[in-house]
Amino acid sequence: MESILNYINGELRPSVSGQWLDNVDPSCGAVYSRIVASASEDVSAAVAAAEQAFPAWSALKAEARAACLNRMADLMEAKMEALAADESRDSGKPLALARRMDIPRAIDNFRFFAAAATQFSAESHYTSPELFNYTLRQPLGVVGCISPWNLPLYLFTWKIAPALAAGCCVVAKPSEITPMTAFRLAQIAQEAGLPPGVLNIIHGTGPDAGSAIVSHPRIKAISFTGGTKTGAGIAAVAAPMFKKLSLELGGKNPTVIFDDADFDLALSTAVRASFTNQGQICLCGSRILVEASIYPKFRDAFVARVQQLKVGNPQHADTDIGALVGKAHFEKVLQYIELAKQEGGKLLCGGNAAQPVPGGYYLNPTVIEGLPQQCRTNMEEIFGPVVTLQSFRDETEALELANATEYGLAAGVWTSNVNRAHRFAHRLQMGIVWVNCWLERDLRTPFGGVKSSGVGREGGWEAMRFFTEPKNVGVKIVLNPE
Ligand code: NDP
Repeated sequence: MESILNYINGELRPSVSGQWLDNVDPSCGAVYSRIVASASEDVSAAVAAAEQAFPAWSALKAEARAACLNRMADLMEAKMEALAADESRDSGKPLALARRMDIPRAIDNFRFFAAAATQFSAESHYTSPELFNYTLRQPLGVVGCISPWNLPLYLFTWKIAPALAAGCCVVAKPSEITPMTAFRLAQIAQEAGLPPGVLNIIHGTGPDAGSAIVSHPRIKAISFTGGTKTGAGIAAVAAPMFKKLSLELGGKNPTVIFDDADFDLALSTAVRASFTNQGQICLCGSRILVEASIYPKFRDAFVARVQQLKVGNPQHADTDIGALVGKAHFEKVLQYIELAKQEGGKLLCGGNAAQPVPGGYYLNPTVIEGLPQQCRTNMEEIFGPVVTLQSFRDETEALELANATEYGLAAGVWTSNVNRAHRFAHRLQMGIVWVNCWLERDLRTPFGGVKSSGVGREGGWEAMRFFTEPKNVGVKIVLNPE
């Protein structure tokens, strides 16, 4: 059985405690590898290594840092097939999806921020003929990156790549539920010759290893993606220590479909937005709001399409929906389906477990209607293959419903009325709005949410600015020397 080790100071090592955790393949429920269970002493060793590496790494020319990141990307590309297989096995997602989305995007993250390192610049302000100001953007030092299980390597590298590009040294923790590709990244960093200590990867649970990163006094910033409750706990620890914080948290995203939308495109995209990665993407649209005049037609067509989705073994090429990430999450989603029934929801399809592989955590894609906005099913994040349908009378009501939850991550708007599209986008309380599309990403754009969906933005210069501290230097020039 393979052992997943920490990566500290360029070496792969067991944890100080010598304890291990099981790593489960959710497609069949079997333990297939073991993970080091780390705690504060492992984090302290990683911080010490990162601090030692920081002066040289931050002093490197941007081109040299970019070359290191590009070497990592080249190696990931060469190992694409193996990485996709690891990601699929660890998380239960269809292998085809890992091949098409997760791993290419992780590679793009490294290449994108390698380029960003060489292009990053800061402002100068001409104040008067005698005075100008320029801004230095200095790397923060040692930073912590903590990522979730839904898009393991994709979200892990989305934080690590800009931190390294900006000149920081990193102590990172993937979710203990999906550690395998982070372990592969450590092996790749060794092979790429990344200087020891620049990147350190600690494995273990959130309460043990994650919280040790958050509370470590010499870690200057925390970039976290995960649940809203966990994010609030992290903020409570990190804020009084005056750490910089970037929190990408949960969502309950609306997909709003007006009657003048391109029906077929809205339909097929809404199916994708609902069920890609078993609905376990923070950007999935889990509340579908449809204008009353087309509601019955849309509902029937939507349910018919959803019933065609194949729940299957993640390894099989024709599988649309793989396994949920693990037993605890599977049970949580099933409980939400029970709750929806208790709240008076009508199941239009799904609602039950599937068993394409014995022992695995599979759910049939579930569509529910007949629930008001103000119920737990429509207010809380479920994060699984479960969506609700609601109808609205007009734009005002659509906006009210769309903005009704505590979350504000992303929304989809479907209309052919260009005025309405922009007006509606302007009024949505969201960090991200897609008009007539979904999940079209440009890595330069700001990424993140408002309200309980988070604080701060990732992506492009936002990420480079997060990992650097601005310092203004004001310079007075003597114009008329004696
Ligand atoms: P969690 O909040 O449970 O965990 C996220 C990460 O934090 C994991 O690595 C976890 O470790 C770690 N962690 C848990 N407790 C602590 C702690 N006390 N201190 C430090 N770290 C801790 O989220 P999930 O992994 O369940 O991920 C799903 C959530 O992520 C959903 O709510 C989803 O919406 C959100 N998400 C948000 C995105 C966004 O960009 N806004 C994108 C993707 C997902 P471990 O798992 O090992 O315990």
